[in-house]
Amino acid sequence: MTVDQPHYKTSDEVDFVIVGSGAAGGILAKELSTNGFRVVVLEQGPYLTETDFTHNEIEIMAQDKLTNHPKLQPTTFRKTPDEKAKPQRAVVYGRCVGGTSVHFTANFWRFHEIDFIERSKVGPVAGTGLMDWPITYADLEPYYTKVEWEIGVSGLAGASPFDPPRSKPYPMPPLPVKSSGVIFERAARKLGWHPFPAPMAILSQARAGRSACVNCGFCLGFGCEVGAKSSSLVAAIRVAERTGRCEIRPNSYVHRIETDANGRATGAVYFDEKRNTHLQKAKAIVVCANGAETPRLLLLSASKQFPGGLANSSGLVGKYLMLNSGGVVTGQFEHPLNDYKGYAVSRVLHDFYELDPQKVGFYGGGGLDARFDFTPISFAFGGLPPGTPRWGKDFKAALAQDFSRTMEIFCHGTSLPVENNSFSIDPDVKDAWGLPALRLTYKDHPDDLKLGNWMFARAHELFEAAGAKKHWGFPAAESQFAVHLLGTCRMGNDPKTSVINSDHRTHDVKNLFLCDGSSLVTSGRGQPTMTIEALAFRAADRITALAKNGEIRQDRGDCQTTRKSYKDGSPCGLGCGLETSTKSEAAPTFISQNLSANGQAADNAPTGCSSREENRLGFSVSRAARGKRHPISNRLTVSKGFNRQLPSREGQVLPA
Ligand SMILES: Cc1cc2nc3c(=O)[nH]c(=O)nc-3n(C[C@H](O)[C@H](O)[C@H](O)COP(=O)(O)OP(=O)(O)OC[C@H]3O[C@@H](n4cnc5c(N)ncnc54)[C@H](O)[C@@H]3O)c2cc1C
Ligand code: SF4
Repeated sequence: MTVDQPHYKTSDEVDFVIVGSGAAGGILAKELSTNGFRVVVLEQGPYLTETDFTHNEIEIMAQDKLTNHPKLQPTTFRKTPDEKAKPQRAVVYGRCVGGTSVHFTANFWRFHEIDFIERSKVGPVAGTGLMDWPITYADLEPYYTKVEWEIGVSGLAGASPFDPPRSKPYPMPPLPVKSSGVIFERAARKLGWHPFPAPMAILSQARAGRSACVNCGFCLGFGCEVGAKSSSLVAAIRVAERTGRCEIRPNSYVHRIETDANGRATGAVYFDEKRNTHLQKAKAIVVCANGAETPRLLLLSASKQFPGGLANSSGLVGKYLMLNSGGVVTGQFEHPLNDYKGYAVSRVLHDFYELDPQKVGFYGGGGLDARFDFTPISFAFGGLPPGTPRWGKDFKAALAQDFSRTMEIFCHGTSLPVENNSFSIDPDVKDAWGLPALRLTYKDHPDDLKLGNWMFARAHELFEAAGAKKHWGFPAAESQFAVHLLGTCRMGNDPKTSVINSDHRTHDVKNLFLCDGSSLVTSGRGQPTMTIEALAFRAADRITALAKNGEIRQDRGDCQTTRKSYKDGSPCGLGCGLETSTKSEAAPTFISQNLSANGQAADNAPTGCSSREENRLGFSVSRAARGKRHPISNRLTVSKGFNRQLPSREGQVLPA
């Protein structure tokens, strides 16, 4: 923690509780608190900072200092729903403030236009629920740019002929090329392909009080000791803290979202460090716990009113999980590359992003990257070619010779949304808090495996063209382990085939929002985090707009004074004459404002009238309510377009 934070009481009804402080949660915390809201972030993991990060491979890789711990939070795996799941490590994610963005590789690709409209373009794919997004690349483009400039991404605009359109260049030049990048680039050009500098969420230049990358070489899996990796921790949460409105509450393991009799979320129930239980009250909740834990939390929040789990009327919470197909081919060279120095990836190619299913015989597409992401110990376990002695002096000699002469090509690709592929809760296994464990059910769609093998063949071709002494890899195998956790509460217009709408609001619970990897509709071609973060920036804008329009505190059709719902469109009976229809866009939302002469909302609404809080936050109401007086408070209602000043970013005043 770098600045004094507010300490809200759990009984304070804050504006937003955010569950999870990872890639998406950190950005929502930053944006919502900067927009003037009071925010509590409940994060199950500890609050670690640069001084806590080390290069200790045992602590990080074997003892899970930064990640979910398999003993405390065990997971189970099965291939199909007919099988009984077996306990095994099935998922890895960052379990600390900043989430998985603290320890990830930081390979940062935008999705392309095709990723949002692929179902329309290729048609249905048998055995899948492939569908288009309710938003397009163009809708998300400004937010991709925001991620690049506000979070910090290095890269070279226009370097790839396959790049989607962009409104601005990258804020920083690419990181220096590594030996693996030089080899990759030369060989790819020989083959007529189009390599380009990898866009990375790592600073190539000092920026916003953060250091540029010092090439420490312990990047994938490790926290950055100089703040150069653009995690939510350094790039978003610290900004949120500086607003003085955002409290980050670490070691807070949320296990239930509470709802009231009207089916509205009222708060989040969590265990603190000592395993005491608390309920943090909030007007609205945004769950950003990732594609595994978000569905688990919704399923754990089942109640009489929501017997199948919260926000699960579609039955799709946890389903259509996509992991991104992928794999690795490793190559060895005669001469030293010393690629262990520095960050992981410096060159990428996207020539195979959009493969033609008619030509290749399967659906999908992907990208290749050049990297070395081993540490000394992980290299000893997995970096040597098959057949190398694993013990004694020959093993030592192989390590000494090959550590500096090895590089990898990673293949990243689509995975298809298959309904049975899912995260759910295990009926038998429990975690250390007594909660049902996370269960992974996954069997790759045959096209995902075909794509994997097709991409491997390209990686081998590239190593041949590069003159590698040896190159080896293993055929694509069925996944039993998840790192990219996507699609389990997907976005869509139809409540029957999706869990959230394009505002990230759940179809079933109006003040419950979900934003993280679970929101994705398709998997892209790997590297989903740029898109997750762009969605988080967009979600924050959408949620802020809904709050300002008075559409979060109550359902359309709910009278704020009587607190009753009038779904049939009839007047509420109090005589204000404002309809409570849920059907019309122009339906009033019944938030009344007492206006002073200059148009500012005065804070003298009667005690107990729910308009008080909204007034303070600057919420307004819809056009249909304009100019009418509420029967009880006798206050004028204002419209969306009312030209009023709202308290906003960094204490400035912006037009509403
Ligand atoms: C080793 C590794 C390398 C990766 N490399 C890349 C890469 O190069 N490029 C890329 O694009 N992606 C990469 N990824 C994936 C990327 O990190 C994730 O896609 C991204 O962080 C997901 O963001 P999120 O907001 O969905 O969730 P996370 O970032 O996982 O954040 C979720 C947060 O919620 C917290 N949480 C969960 N449940 C609860 C609960 N019940 N109560 C309170 N808090 C809770 C978690 O502790 C965590 O902090 C990598 C992942 C791994 C594991
Ligand atoms: S390689 Fe660079 S970005 Fe990665 S952890 Fe080291 S200093 Fe940080």
